[in-house]
Amino acid sequence: MANLILQHGTILTMDRQDTLYEDGFVVVDGDAITHLGPMSLMDELLQGIPETEHYSILDCTGKLILPGMVNTHSHLSMVVFRSLGDDVADRLKRYLFPLEKTAMDKQMALDGAAYAFAELLLGGVTTIYDAYYFEDEIAKVAEKAGIRGVLSETILSFPSPNADEPYGGIPYTKQFIKNWQGHPLITPAVNCHALYTNDREHLQECHRIAREADVIMCMHLAEMDYEQRDCLRDFGMTPVQYLDSLGILDARFLAAHSINLEDRDLEIYRDRGVKVSHNAGSNAKGAKGVARIRDMRAMGITVGLGTDGAMSGNTLDILTQLPLVGKIQKVSNNDRTLFPAKEILRMATIEGAKALGLEEITGSLEAGKRADIIILETDSVNMQPIYDPYSVVVYSANPSNVETTIVNGRVVMDKRRLLSLDMAELRENLFRHQDKIRAIARELDKKLPSS
Ligand SMILES: [Zn+2]
Repeated sequence: MANLILQHGTILTMDRQDTLYEDGFVVVDGDAITHLGPMSLMDELLQGIPETEHYSILDCTGKLILPGMVNTHSHLSMVVFRSLGDDVADRLKRYLFPLEKTAMDKQMALDGAAYAFAELLLGGVTTIYDAYYFEDEIAKVAEKAGIRGVLSETILSFPSPNADEPYGGIPYTKQFIKNWQGHPLITPAVNCHALYTNDREHLQECHRIAREADVIMCMHLAEMDYEQRDCLRDFGMTPVQYLDSLGILDARFLAAHSINLEDRDLEIYRDRGVKVSHNAGSNAKGAKGVARIRDMRAMGITVGLGTDGAMSGNTLDILTQLPLVGKIQKVSNNDRTLFPAKEILRMATIEGAKALGLEEITGSLEAGKRADIIILETDSVNMQPIYDPYSVVVYSANPSNVETTIVNGRVVMDKRRLLSLDMAELRENLFRHQDKIRAIARELDKKLPSS
């Protein structure tokens, strides 16, 4: 962790008042932000820190300083499968599940996650929610990478690809929470995969574990057309109403996707304090429909942004999601005034932190919060001119404009170079799985009906 002063940058704090300092400074002391404000007040504000020679000074003239992005939904290790099965119908059941079952093992999951952490840090994501397998090992990689992670082992009602855990993930999750609760970077969570992969006993047990440990419970919800259809057929209720009838929905519940929602479902979300992870790119690519995030926001429901796995949405950074969120909402509601850039950026930062229960420690630049900060350069051709910095971040910036990433006060990426991970090694480790994956994918391709 560093003692740092970032100075002369344009600071988008994303605090409650959306305070913006056009020429501002941020002081990082250890893992926390201690001071920030306009340069004109720096001398006055820093009187509490007489020995500024103990601080590294980073000149941020012309640069944008903002809180790190929060990705509220992903399956990181799936990055090893990126670009496979992109256009396959019913991809989850016909392609992804069989591929995972045959190909995925612990080493592949770890190499995939490490590679994903590199992509996240290079793209300005400082907090990631992950649900996958072998999560205890993945947490150790996250710790080394220096990224903030809300991590969870995927729970199913049948054996998962995790051969260490043939019981669907519940005993593993209990131990995982014990291992990591209280860690400065890693926050354990419960992940109940979905309604169509878990029976009632699993759903209720997951909720019990989350309640007793006071951790969040995440689930894919109201995402699939068959999920909706089968739930109505079997229980006479929508998936949201069914979960509510089991007493599972509460303020610790994070519902990923949430596309097929009736008005009554939205009211349940609002009344129970359910949070939503909106995955615009993944949902659009999967032709699953447009989530009603305009209505959710109007009702005061917390909505953060997510990418989903890289086999669903192809990227893991949040910057590439931002224009999609705005454009999909504008076109589907036929109203270009909806979702101004500042609101989209709030969902990518502080609202995402809220969705993960971390709003007290991250998601905005404020004194007392952990120093999760990104710096965007503005020299690249796509970044000028800057009349509205929020608009530039949402509609002009891409991950390669992120120059520096700081997590928990540690500079983990600087000038596009990872300081906590070795990119050449990560790439080599990723490539060593390619032959196996390609061979399995070829067999799967043969089984698909020709179009
Ligand atoms: Zn997902």
